[in-house]
Amino acid sequence: MDNKNIGLSECPGCGVNLPDLGLRKSERFNASGECWEMFMKLSGYIAQGYDEEFIQQMSIDTYEAQHAGGTTKNIAGAFGLIGLYLSLEKGFSGKEVQRAHMDLANRSKEWPRFGPSPSKWKMTVKNVVDAGPKKSKKMIHLWAKATWKEWEFEKERIIGLMNKVSPGLEKYIKNGKKGAT
Ligand SMILES: [Zn+2]
Repeated sequence: MDNKNIGLSECPGCGVNLPDLGLRKSERFNASGECWEMFMKLSGYIAQGYDEEFIQQMSIDTYEAQHAGGTTKNIAGAFGLIGLYLSLEKGFSGKEVQRAHMDLANRSKEWPRFGPSPSKWKMTVKNVVDAGPKKSKKMIHLWAKATWKEWEFEKERIIGLMNKVSPGLEKYIKNGKKGAT
């Protein structure tokens, strides 16, 4: 955080410093334009076939969790955290997380605010991208875990929220699969 060189832009969400390209801030994600572009690059890696829907979903949830608060809609922060909880602690696949998100979105339009995100992140989308396409799967896992760790203090609130909006959701989506990684 102490890099004060001219020409760097700091992301308001995750705090990553990237060369300032004069890009417009992403309102949707409370992210600098440069940070969002980094995420687009990562999505490109995933789309190249190095990995599949699971890791795609995890990367979106992680990005949302790191950019909760600010201009980000409440639902993005909440769904990012719900996604991380379900995948990392409950062993949900990407498809199952998507089904959970859809179910929840259909049942409620009102979501509480999570954020601002609890820390200046040591690991950001930049670290994942810098490791290159072939390592993206492993790096996204590490990134997701590191992010969830900082948010874990909200776990009870997240579980309570899911139970309130869609009682039994975990069970009926999860049809008997084994627990978390
Ligand atoms: Zn960012």
